Amino acid sequence: MSKLVCKNPGTGEILKEIDITPENALPAIFDRAKEAQISWSELSLKKRARHLRMLRETMLNHVDELAALISAENGKPLFESLMNEIFTSVDLLTFFAKRAPRILKNQTIPLVLMKHRKSYVQHWPLGVVVVISPWNYPLLLPFGEIVMALVAENAVVFKPSEATPLVGLKIQELCEEAGLPPGLIQTVVGDGNLGAALIQQKPAKIFFTGSVSTGKKIMAAAAEHLIPVNLELGGKDAMVILPDADLDFASSAALWGGFSNSGQVCASVERILVHESIAELFMVKLKEKVTQLRQAPSTAVAGNDLGAITLDKQKTTYDQQISQAKQAGAHFLTGGAFSSDLKYLIPTLVTGEKIESLEIYNEETFGPVVAITTFKTPAEAVRKVNSSSYGLLASVITKNIALGEQIARQLEVGTVTINEVTYTCGLPETPWGGIKNSGIGRTHSERGLLEFVNVRHIHKPKSRLFVFKSPWWFPYTPYQYKTFRTLLELYRLHWTDRLKALPHVLWNLVKFLKEEKRL
Ligand code: NAD
Repeated sequence: MSKLVCKNPGTGEILKEIDITPENALPAIFDRAKEAQISWSELSLKKRARHLRMLRETMLNHVDELAALISAENGKPLFESLMNEIFTSVDLLTFFAKRAPRILKNQTIPLVLMKHRKSYVQHWPLGVVVVISPWNYPLLLPFGEIVMALVAENAVVFKPSEATPLVGLKIQELCEEAGLPPGLIQTVVGDGNLGAALIQQKPAKIFFTGSVSTGKKIMAAAAEHLIPVNLELGGKDAMVILPDADLDFASSAALWGGFSNSGQVCASVERILVHESIAELFMVKLKEKVTQLRQAPSTAVAGNDLGAITLDKQKTTYDQQISQAKQAGAHFLTGGAFSSDLKYLIPTLVTGEKIESLEIYNEETFGPVVAITTFKTPAEAVRKVNSSSYGLLASVITKNIALGEQIARQLEVGTVTINEVTYTCGLPETPWGGIKNSGIGRTHSERGLLEFVNVRHIHKPKSRLFVFKSPWWFPYTPYQYKTFRTLLELYRLHWTDRLKALPHVLWNLVKFLKEEKRL
């Protein structure tokens, strides 16, 4: 059996060698999941929620160990593992365990014309769903999808990134320790080839988080079997800083938004659009803060702000974008180079006249790089934000919240935060997802949970008294046509026209019913 070598990107230490799941094991894994899903869906929602709360308790029993594992495998600072992964996962589980009954209950549909009938929507499970995740939030991203899938009665086959399989396997271990039924959540280990093989098992739905190019491949493969997909993809998120902004606040927001998790965040601030009247002062402030960021391996509590670059393939993207920017004469306020051991890209701020034509401003970097440009009017800022091929998140920094909101409502993205940045991916109550190249569908929130269910519409008579042949059934007769023709007149704009039509409707209706021998 081939092995995957898991390394700490900061220290180079080999953490573990683990078995890669062979593709020929997948049919049995899916069969097991199908069986587990059937018995899981026989439990009441209350019992499923109790299982999830046990999972939370188990996670709480392993917090420090889990934080250390995330930091070791991904390279992020321990505080980020605790706050942005474990805290958010615990909060998300709590939200869905509590709110799912309300979100998943039957929904009555008021009928406008058919007053003699009742309609409602019943939510029922999809079955076995596949969750495929990236490495930048190896706990929070898959955990959120897994919790929503389980609460909605599904079973999950989960493939973590090949860069962070240990955290993926830990999720399964926690589920087992918490007493979740065997087979309900199964973690498979491997790269993109295994991910592609999962689709050939025809899961009920694919929940994918990752790059745009892989998202397109998954959608194409899923189309062969008409498998629905949810795609959470990349971003090139903009922060708009209005002229009234407090510069200390704005620069701190930009600093955290641009550099937390070493900028390896789909919702990272990668473009700053700052009003030309404050641009110079803002850049001085931001540069001062950026140069104080500490980069080091994530081994000690509060020992660093930025960890090592998680994946070697990222370095190629950074190198390419930075080289192009240098050749075009862009002005690097900070960074633009790797550390001598090549484990870190020095936090980079780049600007210049040609910046808006460069890849570093237009394409996702997914690293500690922020490109800065200016604008003169709010309309120009809106146009510049919307010129991107991505549409995940944007932020606006201003003291004038009403103006911030006015701008927010014009931005072509899935989320806009005013005087906040990036973090709503960790809020379970709010929808997360993008438009354009940033993806399809939403996760988290009521909308996200409803992505995990089938919808069954039930339509029934209000009582036995209302069981009769519908007037549009066979045989088609002359007065049937006339009745419906005159009924259409009741949709006229003016009430006088509608009133005039009423006797004709009644006359035709009586004739029609006689024709049908119902009178
Ligand atoms: P990636 O696309 O390279 O890999 C993501 C996952 O897909 C991995 O598990 C990988 O093994 C798997 N995969 C690769 N090829 C596959 C195939 N053909 N079929 C099925 N699965 C396949 O992305 P990455 O480098 O792991 O993550 C970085 C990207 O993820 C960035 O673009 C980032 O913006 C995006 N991301 C988006 C969000 C969001 O919420 N929108 C969140 C985090 C990361």
